Formats: sequence, structure tokens, C-alpha cells
Amino acid sequence: MARLENEFAWSISRDKRLRACARQYWFQHYGMWHGWEDGAPQRTREAYVLSKLKGRAAWVGIRVHECIARSLQNLRRGQEVLPVDEILKIVRGEMRTDFANSRRRHYRAAPKKYVGLFEHEYDLPVPDVEWKRSAELADECLRNFYASETFARLRSLPKEAFVEVEEKRTHFTFEGVKVWASLDCAVREADATIIYDWKTGDAGENHSVQLTCYALYGSQAWSLPPDKMRLVEYNLRGGQPREYGITPKEIESVQAYIRGSIADMRALLEESARNTPRPEDAFATTDDDRTCRRCNYLKICPRGGQILPAMRAPPAHDTV
Ligand code: SF4
Repeated sequence: MARLENEFAWSISRDKRLRACARQYWFQHYGMWHGWEDGAPQRTREAYVLSKLKGRAAWVGIRVHECIARSLQNLRRGQEVLPVDEILKIVRGEMRTDFANSRRRHYRAAPKKYVGLFEHEYDLPVPDVEWKRSAELADECLRNFYASETFARLRSLPKEAFVEVEEKRTHFTFEGVKVWASLDCAVREADATIIYDWKTGDAGENHSVQLTCYALYGSQAWSLPPDKMRLVEYNLRGGQPREYGITPKEIESVQAYIRGSIADMRALLEESARNTPRPEDAFATTDDDRTCRRCNYLKICPRGGQILPAMRAPPAHDTV
């Protein structure tokens, strides 16, 4: 089988990572590459295993998104959705299994098959009440979703109205560069296509670039003009759906942003055509400890030695 090539592609998460820490960006997009192959160098393999870790918040988000996607895929097939209590029981079961497998470090041998939790990998002293809170948060997000007007509306649509539900590896092309854009859900209603994005994190962050990227995707994938699309972000932690406008000015500004971000990324390449990065040291480490404390690569980054001991200290109330 041909060796997988590391093709340059832009995404909002790639952009965020570069802005947070160039070294983390290097690990995620270059340092771990081919780490899945038998006989990979030890550090490359380690970077690959670490690249798959999920913090508690991301883990909750993934399980909630997967659950909603299953329900919407059922609606798309014309099947009924399970009662909410049964849905919550299934998700609780999945999270329990994830937790047990992660604590046993199964992800170390099979990082794609098993969830690996950041807190387990780094032996962080997380009180049981915090783990319980993660499970409760998943319940809360799902209860909010299934009781929402948005879900009632989606449920009332004919199956033909569903355009996309969490399709994998969807993308569009911007000035010759592949741009990843993975939509949570898109449906056709009356004369507009509505693109939904579920959020499970703290409300307050502005996601207009991400949502406008979805509109750019929609205009290529479905040949739709902006005025035939609506973008709805729904924070499942009790927030209300929020609609973003798609004006030509907003589209131009997001295109300019992507163009600038691609130029920044390419400036870190030795050979642009082959996506060959400059040496690891050319990717600066951040000095923002808060970013490091959430970074998967602490173990193999020169900054890890300074940050990890403080992270592993027991919480103050456990020491008295
Ligand atoms: S530990 Fe800190 S400096 Fe190192 S890669 Fe992660 S975020 Fe960057």
C-alpha cells in the first residue's frame, strides 16, 4: 500500500493550534506523522499516541456529538429516535467503558480504537466528583438538546430534508488549498439550507469564522448562494440557538483571514510543494503556562519538565 502523504490542508483547529503554540502545531501536523507505522521512531510513535488524547471537556463533546449524530441519522433514515432516558443510559455506558479502558491505558497499544484521556496519561489528581461532573455535563447537554425546539423541528422534517449529518472528511477548496469543514447537521427547509453547529463548551467564544467556513463549504458542495443558507450555533449547556449572518462582507473578511493564516503556515515550510516543515526548533514554544497545561505533548516537549510537576501536585484541599 502506498505511504500516506502529509498533504497541506487548512482548518480552523489547525489555525487555532498555530496561534496557541507553534511547537504544538509542529507535533500535531508533522512530528506525529507516520507514528502509526510499525517500526516508527520511538519519539514519532509517542507523538502519535499523545496526539489522540482527549481532555475531559473534549471527551464529553465527542460523546454528545456522536449521540446526536446517531439520532439525526436515524431521522434521516426515517427511523424513530429512542426515548431520552434510554439515550442517556447508552451514553453513560459508553463513557464508563471509555473511562475504564483509558485508566488501563489500552490506547497506548491502539490509539485509534480506544479513548485515551489526558488526565490518565499524565496521572493528574482529578477528584471523583470532577469525573462525575463530566458525566452529568453530557446528560445536561443531551437533555437540553432532546427537549429543545430545534430538535422538535428537526424531528418534524421529512427524511429527504437532511442534507448532511456529521459526514466525515468533508472539505472545500480555497485558492488551491483543501479546507476541512465538518458540519454537525444541514437541513433544507422552505427555500433555505440551515447549517447547525452544536457546542458543549463554555458560551462566549465567537465562532463566526468557523460558521462562515461552513457557508463557504455549502456554496461549493451544494452550489448555493449565501442568501440561501442560514448558520445556527446552538450551545447545549443551556444556551439559546444563535444565528450568524452571511453577508458578502463577512465572507470576504473570512477569506482574507484564511489567506493570511495559510501564508503564516507556509512560512514555516522548507518546501511548500511537498509540505516539508522547517526543523522542529524553528517552531517556537509558547511561554503561556495555561496553554501548556492543556497540551497533549507535555511529555515530549522541552517545556514539559517545568509544567508537569505543578500539575501533578494534589489539590490543596487534599493535602491538609
Ligand atoms: S507543552 Fe507548551 S510549549 Fe510545549 S508544545 Fe505544548 S503548548 Fe507548546
